[in-house]
Amino acid sequence: MSANRELTTDSIRDLIAAAIEARRKSYSPYSHYQVGAALLAGDGQIITGCNIENAAYGPSNCAERTAFFKAVSEGIRAFAAIAIVGSPEGEELTQFAYPCGVCRQVMAEFCEPENFRIIVAKSEEDYRVMTLAELLPESFGPDNLREGQSEGFSSCTAKR
Ligand SMILES: [Zn+2]
Repeated sequence: MSANRELTTDSIRDLIAAAIEARRKSYSPYSHYQVGAALLAGDGQIITGCNIENAAYGPSNCAERTAFFKAVSEGIRAFAAIAIVGSPEGEELTQFAYPCGVCRQVMAEFCEPENFRIIVAKSEEDYRVMTLAELLPESFGPDNLREGQSEGFSSCTAKR
């Protein structure tokens, strides 16, 4: 699942631009909070996603997970980075939109916490870069379920 890829200023800007473009497709008639994400695969492909809401609220999906599920369903499982842009309806990005807890957990399924980069941006020039490990410390992931890895078990799945 390794996807070490050097992130240059240019590649970060390209990823943010793709996220901004994806945000235009946001379907958010209830929250009016529009989010776009652009996921950089290990092979250099960019897969985008937007948030998709639903009248029943529960079936709504975040932009980040839309991008991940699109990619995985196409056979892509190695990822280097994701750019996320989100703000209330309108062209202007007024805040940094960090991924929700559920999306961080989905990232932990497919990405190396120390290497995967999360970029939150207000523009192609104004952004912050973090690792998944910084946003989801002591995470529970696939390694925990491998034999001989019982030490770090999450309490919700540990044997009683
Ligand atoms: Zn989310």
